[in-house]
Amino acid sequence: MKVTVVGVGPGGGADLTGRARAALEECELLVGYTIYIDLISGDFPGKPVLSTGMRREVDRCRAAVEAAAAGKNVAVVCSGDSGVYGMAGLIYEVAQEYPEVEVQVVPGITAACGGAAVLGAPLTHDFAVISLSDLLTPWEKIETRLEGAALADFVICLYNPASHSRPDHLKRACDILLRHKSPDTVCGTVRSIGREGEQARILTLQALRDAQVDMFTTVFIGNAQTKALNGKMVTPRGYLQRER
Ligand code: SAH
Repeated sequence: MKVTVVGVGPGGGADLTGRARAALEECELLVGYTIYIDLISGDFPGKPVLSTGMRREVDRCRAAVEAAAAGKNVAVVCSGDSGVYGMAGLIYEVAQEYPEVEVQVVPGITAACGGAAVLGAPLTHDFAVISLSDLLTPWEKIETRLEGAALADFVICLYNPASHSRPDHLKRACDILLRHKSPDTVCGTVRSIGREGEQARILTLQALRDAQVDMFTTVFIGNAQTKALNGKMVTPRGYLQRER
């Protein structure tokens, strides 16, 4: 029948869009990584759930598509947006073998947008989103992208800044950025966006190099214009500067 890949926002709950809520209400089976299912299952009591641990992405997507092929209306739940490091692409790939299954993607608020709103307004100009996870991307390619984004003075938003198996990735990334950016560049981190215990911090690029971050953190690195204004991280678009 149908698989809908649903982005539920950084924290679920109030961050669910109307379309996401409707898709989750309508579906007959919720599929997703345990943490994401936990974010939303309270809002949809009694809904059958198929949840699996991390790194079981292919199994999970296959199970979702197979349930749809067997006639069910299935929702695959992703945190944030379903297409930003989410399951949307993999579902399309797996569903190729099942032409009878219809696939739909419902977008959500990605961590970059959710975290930006907590910090202030850091993404008001051109920005690049880079994941520091080298599970599926060679580290050399990540380094090239970091270097390119720094050279072009993009505001940079880092996903997957660390995990147990790669605790020093943020430090290594900052060392690359520091070759092209001032150590005083305004940066921010936000942990558990939209969830209980949400925490935000504004700090310099030099301090970010030694900051403790984990897989529930999104990192923001300003461009040359980004400033700290009354405890908020703000990248001017340039309206006021134009008037001077
Ligand atoms: N599809 C998701 C991203 C999944 S990749 C989205 O669009 O947001 C996982 C990474 O996203 C995490 O390591 C973290 O960097 C970021 N992230 C996702 N949810 C988050 C949250 N609630 N708070 C902080 N960072 C989050």
